[in-house]
Amino acid sequence: MPELPEVEAMTRWLHRWLAGRRLVEIELLDPILLQTDPAGLARLQGRAVQRARRVAKYSLLDLEGGAQLVLHHRMTGKTVQEDRNPGRSRQVRLRLQPDQGPAVILDDRRRLARAWALGPAAVAPFWAAVAPAPEPYPELRDGPWWQARLAGAQGALKPALMDPRRVAGVGNIGATEGLWWAGLHPASSPARLDEGAWQRLAQGMRRWIDDTLSAETAPEIDYFTQGGPSPFQIYGRSGQPCPRCQSPLQSARQSGRASCWCARCQPAPCPGLLGDG
Ligand SMILES: [Zn+2]
Repeated sequence: MPELPEVEAMTRWLHRWLAGRRLVEIELLDPILLQTDPAGLARLQGRAVQRARRVAKYSLLDLEGGAQLVLHHRMTGKTVQEDRNPGRSRQVRLRLQPDQGPAVILDDRRRLARAWALGPAAVAPFWAAVAPAPEPYPELRDGPWWQARLAGAQGALKPALMDPRRVAGVGNIGATEGLWWAGLHPASSPARLDEGAWQRLAQGMRRWIDDTLSAETAPEIDYFTQGGPSPFQIYGRSGQPCPRCQSPLQSARQSGRASCWCARCQPAPCPGLLGDG
């Protein structure tokens, strides 16, 4: 569930908690988490954290000497300080103890999160294999940028937006929210959008990122998909009134994923698409 803005928010906290500090202890509590040799994780112990930063949906720690610890939160993973919300039940998969301040834990109920301990020589090959797509944030991306990223996409706009080879960090939430802000139907054809539509899409995608970042300022995110409050306009609100026009929000499955949209604000490009008409 965490997409670009949630990972960005968590990574900013990781930076505040760990940058400039030394990782005196790295404790792996669930071997399923680690995708690299456990000995490599031990070799990261004792290194100073230079900074934390986000790449696509990954959070990574740049460590001294060119090493990296890379995390992917997948569905339910989150990084949080260990002393935060003490009464809460945790499923701790990884524990990072800095030389000052509380430990940082990776809490993940569903055990889908993954981590990579990369020595200096492993960093470049890892990222070459991931091949992250260009980022829609923090740079301001305009309509022509989005048009170029989605050029040649076959099929509908929404799955093309969620393709991690085209744009980094956009999942079902971001595509749903961005299309609603843009007034574009999820089944629109990218080949048929005009200049104005691309510009609205650029603004809509930015609005999703900015609004989610503004909402997720707490040191621990309570994911909406796990019962937390929703910072979203229409995602997960099928059947409820559209916040703009009050029409009931539509839903259907598209490319195997739940899709939600407003039939009035996001008119279908032709009748019969996704249950319209
Ligand atoms: Zn509407």
